[in-house]
Amino acid sequence: MTTARRFCPKCGAQVTFRIPEGDNRERATCDSCQHIDYDNPRIITGTLPRYDGKILLCKRNIEPRLGYWTLPAGFMENQESTKEGAIRETLEECGSKVLCQQLYSMISIPQINQVHMIYLADLENADFHPTPESSEVQLFSLEDIPWEQLSFASVRQTLQHFVEDSKQGHYPLHEDTLYLNNLMTLP
Ligand SMILES: [Zn+2]
Repeated sequence: MTTARRFCPKCGAQVTFRIPEGDNRERATCDSCQHIDYDNPRIITGTLPRYDGKILLCKRNIEPRLGYWTLPAGFMENQESTKEGAIRETLEECGSKVLCQQLYSMISIPQINQVHMIYLADLENADFHPTPESSEVQLFSLEDIPWEQLSFASVRQTLQHFVEDSKQGHYPLHEDTLYLNNLMTLP
């Protein structure tokens, strides 16, 4: 369950897990330099890129879920906004520049301590290509979404919302919490 460090990131001493004064849960704390190593959820940010009535998916060229189709997304970096991260990830994975629109899907996944944030986005043009992270990048019409070959439950959830919302032409923010049967497969 815990992914916490066993050694202090500041001084390298072995940490002990205890509840700091005034806190309510165990933290990796350093008895040598008093550093408290907070281990909190990570944000995955990305886009749902649209173009000409289709959506852009990329086939993962990296583990986990190598060979499965996904939305361009990845870990948010320090010193950037979620929107900037979404644009950066889309460029890195699809080679394409997008006009990033509103936040569309925000999914908490408590079992793996992640929050996935997906923005609606529009491709500036049909310029996209495979990258080190994606073996294929392809536009799909909504009827042709490869449901059986999607990478992650969060991608499936977001695309299901999108297909439904496309019938109305209305795209409100969806907030979900996913509980997975198997972390590496779809629920
Ligand atoms: Zn220390």
